Amino acid sequence: MKTIGLLGGMSWESSLEYYRLINQGVKARLGALHSARIVLVSVDFAEVEAMQSAGRWDDATRFMIAAARQVERGGADCLVICTNTMHRMAAEVQDSIGIPLLHIADATAFAVRVAGIERVGLLGTRFTMEQDFYRGRLQGLHGLQVLIPDQEARQMVNRVIYEELVQGRIVPASREAYRAVIADLVRAGAGGIILGCTEIGLLVGAGDSPVPLYDTTVLHAAAAVDWALSD
Ligand code: GLU
Repeated sequence: MKTIGLLGGMSWESSLEYYRLINQGVKARLGALHSARIVLVSVDFAEVEAMQSAGRWDDATRFMIAAARQVERGGADCLVICTNTMHRMAAEVQDSIGIPLLHIADATAFAVRVAGIERVGLLGTRFTMEQDFYRGRLQGLHGLQVLIPDQEARQMVNRVIYEELVQGRIVPASREAYRAVIADLVRAGAGGIILGCTEIGLLVGAGDSPVPLYDTTVLHAAAAVDWALSD
């Protein structure tokens, strides 16, 4: 079994899910006493959020490269960045380390394509929904059509992530608001919804959507398990 390198803390609420899912995945495949070999570097999310909201992406890239190198030095065989948003600098990070980065959008897109779905709705931070690094990869590399909520809904989705989910707050009214956004995306033609923020799965589940949900945390963790157990 290879060692999975987790770059987490963005937020720790979702890193906890990665840790649990990866260990459960290894146990399911190898048997009762088995658990995953993991190196975890967990950062202070307040520092990350400050760089994001100020648009200090060059600083954020340097920060992510330093943290990824720390994961590699810890003995990891691969890198799993436990957030969608901070895949914005995935290419620069990959170029700065000698181990493979398992991209969260690829793990997600494979699952969507296997289901035969071509048009998906995307929920995430405003950076993930609006900037090209994520949608562009889904569209350009994987041939998916990507729908995003309108501006007002994007603001709400983003606010709930930063003011509630990454702080461990699950608010029923926000679940209802997300359900309405999902319903709008489905009316617009989405055959599936990508939960493109690693904390959204803490708020909504299959019962909140008339179409399949693609939870990036679950899919990314499963891809890491597959990779660690492959030859
Ligand atoms: N975990 C979130 C994501 O998947 C948001 C936190 C962040 O901005 O990194 O995008």
